[in-house]
Amino acid sequence: MLKIDMHTHIIPKQIPNFRDKFGYGDFVYLDHHKPGQARMIKGQQFFREIGQNCWDPQIRIDEYAKYHTQVQVVSTIPVMFSYWAQPAHCLEVSRFLNDHIANLVASYPKNYLGLGTLPMHDSLLAVKELERIKHLGLSGIQIGSNVNNQNLHETSFWPIWEACESLGLAVMVHPWEMMGQEHMPKYWLPWLVGMPAETSRAICSMIFGGVFDRYPKLRVNFSHAGGSFFGTLGRIHHGHHCRPDLVAVDNPTAPLEYLNRFWIDCITHDLNALKYILGMLASDKVCLGSDYPFPLGDLEIGDFVAKSDLDDKTKQDIFSRAALAWLHLEANYFE
Ligand SMILES: [Zn+2]
Repeated sequence: MLKIDMHTHIIPKQIPNFRDKFGYGDFVYLDHHKPGQARMIKGQQFFREIGQNCWDPQIRIDEYAKYHTQVQVVSTIPVMFSYWAQPAHCLEVSRFLNDHIANLVASYPKNYLGLGTLPMHDSLLAVKELERIKHLGLSGIQIGSNVNNQNLHETSFWPIWEACESLGLAVMVHPWEMMGQEHMPKYWLPWLVGMPAETSRAICSMIFGGVFDRYPKLRVNFSHAGGSFFGTLGRIHHGHHCRPDLVAVDNPTAPLEYLNRFWIDCITHDLNALKYILGMLASDKVCLGSDYPFPLGDLEIGDFVAKSDLDDKTKQDIFSRAALAWLHLEANYFE
């Protein structure tokens, strides 16, 4: 059975020191302090220790083979987005990362598909880079759940949605710069509480802002099974109904009408949570995702789905059909 993991991260082994080059900022570079391991340094601060499966394509393919998964859709690590930087500098970082992923995809076309990154805070530069991303052969883009605290309904993003739609590029929304993280540094709360809230923030913003109606061919996929969205959907829907003066100010259509207008991944770490979502969302909207190679990811690449009592059609939808539809690809592309 074809398996496509649409939520995985990769980074080039060597990254220029953009902080030295531009003279400011928390740009990330890698300190390869011992074989097979590197420290991500953000500005001048240690951010995270990573292993060679963050950059070595063959090691990744070998690790995926253990879980019978042939295809990885790779995107950068969100800390690389750099939306806080001057747009021209963010564009330079983005181009460097996009070229790296494009080379990887060209070298291993049966194993890798790629998502690019953009200077989301400058739509003119972003649209130019989208055209280049299309030319490079990438399948779409990965963007943050907010852009310097601008929510995704803002009109400044409309040219980007329009270009994604006309170029046929898919969009993956990933949580980052988690709301309230400065108030909850302990217990990994930004990752455990902030990230799911960020993803719900992105989904709600796009629904209430009318983005899905304005761009009907836009194909968007939200990380971590939609974060806290599905667990609080009853509240969100009721809020739209009871206080339309606050919620339905830009779009009169109820949130439940949008359930099959977007995709999510299956990263729930909990079969019951996944089944609960599958009670609301069609299985061809739920894609295999892992967040590989990070420890909070499903590093058994959907093995809990494979071993579950879900029926074969549902498993096939999750393992490949949903991602193929999101990416506008046919299964024979990988033969
Ligand atoms: Zn991720």
